[in-house]
Amino acid sequence: MVRVRIAPSPTGAIHVGLARSALYNYLFARKNKGNFILRIEDTDPTRSTKESTEIILKGLSWLGLDWDEGPYFQSQRFPIYRKYAERLISEGKAYYCYCPKERLEEERKKALEKKIPYQYDRRCLKLSQKERESLERENIPKVIRFLAPFQEVSFTDLIHGKIRKGPGEIEDFILLRADGTPTYNFACVIDDYEMGINYVIRAVEHIANTPKQILLYNAFNFPIPSFAHLPLILGPDKKKLSKRHGALSVLEYKEAGFLPSALLNYLALLGWSPGGDREIMTKEEMIELFSLERVNKANAIFDLKKLEHFNSVYIRKSEARELLNHLKPFLKVTGEEGRLLSAIKISQERARTLIDLAEAVSIYLKEEIDYPLAEIKSFLTSENRERLNLLAERFSSLLDFNKETTEKALRGLAEELKIKASELIHPCRVALTGKTVGPPLFDLIAVLGKDLTIKRLKKFSQLA
Ligand code: GLU
Repeated sequence: MVRVRIAPSPTGAIHVGLARSALYNYLFARKNKGNFILRIEDTDPTRSTKESTEIILKGLSWLGLDWDEGPYFQSQRFPIYRKYAERLISEGKAYYCYCPKERLEEERKKALEKKIPYQYDRRCLKLSQKERESLERENIPKVIRFLAPFQEVSFTDLIHGKIRKGPGEIEDFILLRADGTPTYNFACVIDDYEMGINYVIRAVEHIANTPKQILLYNAFNFPIPSFAHLPLILGPDKKKLSKRHGALSVLEYKEAGFLPSALLNYLALLGWSPGGDREIMTKEEMIELFSLERVNKANAIFDLKKLEHFNSVYIRKSEARELLNHLKPFLKVTGEEGRLLSAIKISQERARTLIDLAEAVSIYLKEEIDYPLAEIKSFLTSENRERLNLLAERFSSLLDFNKETTEKALRGLAEELKIKASELIHPCRVALTGKTVGPPLFDLIAVLGKDLTIKRLKKFSQLA
């Protein structure tokens, strides 16, 4: 059975790259009826925070990427890592290293000056029994280093093809630090093994770690999972995605009024496509269509404009009731549910974000609207005021107040006044919404209702 995982380090926000990795793992698991596991890699106590873990859990939940197991916390598994590290020591595949930081720094500097890649010189591997005992007696802090075998390592990445490292290119990297915390590569292999992960799908930044991890799998005789490294996400200027290109955090998109379905759909296309020019897909369709074979090697470009476009498409095609749930945090006014739903239905066509939608919806719910006087100045003529006053009277006398009756009344009045209907329609829209564009007038009148319609027409007629 397929078992995949997302393994975030809780050191900040849930950024779009992490969300994309989570999504691909999720789609792959669901497609193959496998399991999706969440593991929090919080081994670094100085950088990991509880808040960040919460943000990550919240972000994944908001996106609807529900995991089947976990969260597992690496910080709760330190004894497990130690046990495995000691096993390698006892098998002669790892060793204690007592070298002080200063010495290592010095060596690193020398290598840099000579322009040769730095590698630990195995000084502690060569210690005599006596030297070791004396260091132990003095309680010198020690790390555990892997004794990297001198051999070629290669693997076939499902996206990037064959990746290889020549013999001697991997140094004796640290497994356990002096304070007992495991390094990323070590904890990752132990956990991926213990958690039965058979596909590792992660960002391409980690591709250079994989050969090291494979050496560890071999040292333990663990089965090696398949690896798929996802392409980088860049900004439209082909530079590494950064704040300049838009928000990086998934929750910032939530706050900016994006729908999780739109973001998810957009993220799916950052490195994958189902073929053809198909872009808009539900989560179920993405599960159906997803395959690692169709993930690109080439870097993906994050284009905020396109994401905004997706958001407007999703707002347009969502059920009003579903939109209402997402809209609630953005609404500053309340109203009866039926009214809210009809206000959403009439506004969703034009909204780019939930913030836009909340603003548009509130026009139908507020008792009073503030007219942007400077913008609508040209409509504030005495002629318009008189005409709209008359219109208000006609509307008042309607027993049945709906789309058809109001349209008939307005057109009738225009005829009597010997003007074009549009000469009433445009100012009427401004009077009712404070805006010069919007949904079809008679639809919006029907949503607004008789009282508010008449009240606003009258108020407009009296604007200073
Ligand atoms: N904690 C690592 C990260 O957040 C996980 C990498 C991996 O998936 O192996 O980048």
